[in-house]
Amino acid sequence: MILDPAQVAPAARTWQELTGLVRGCTACPELVASRTTVVAGALPDGVPAADVLLIGEAPGAQEDEAGVPFVGRSGQLLDSLLHEIGLPRQRVAVTNVLKCRPPGNRKPRRVEVGRCRPWLARQIELADPRVLVALGGTATEWFFGAGARIAALRVTVHHWQGRSLVVTYHPSAAIRFGPRGAPVAALREDLRTVARLVPPAAGGPAGDE
Ligand code: SF4
Repeated sequence: MILDPAQVAPAARTWQELTGLVRGCTACPELVASRTTVVAGALPDGVPAADVLLIGEAPGAQEDEAGVPFVGRSGQLLDSLLHEIGLPRQRVAVTNVLKCRPPGNRKPRRVEVGRCRPWLARQIELADPRVLVALGGTATEWFFGAGARIAALRVTVHHWQGRSLVVTYHPSAAIRFGPRGAPVAALREDLRTVARLVPPAAGGPAGDE
């Protein structure tokens, strides 16, 4: 029987419960046939909520293998930028618009994003972050609708259902354009904005600027 995320996701009471449910999701037959794992997302260990929720597009090959988002080169760049701005990964939850890898890393189809939407909507409620970060075009369109453009929406801090929302480039774009490219500079600048929006950690610089 095909599980309907719109029926099941809203009933999840915790992030961990949702993670268990999403792993059984079979709503997208093509993705079910090609995926190795369902990459639900990661909330920092031992905390009920996160300060920041980073939202990417979909798992890549390494994430599909590991079952964890942002473990490949994109994850390494993200970790390094978060460290640089004093926002440790322990304060940051990560997930993707799609929880299953599209074959050959193709772009997620609109119908797949629609089917998967209830999972992310409930993750946002359960992680209860102060700041949402849309990384890349697919996540930006998830919030703003089809045709939303990163260049037009970044820099401004938006508000979405009572939370701050920052739009920026996906780390994979930053890698594609190289360390001196405009996307990595923009990503760094936008993550600094994110750090300013969260309360300072005990002994840490985030939010101190
Ligand atoms: S992409 Fe989302 S909706 Fe589609 S099968 Fe995976 S978890 Fe389910």
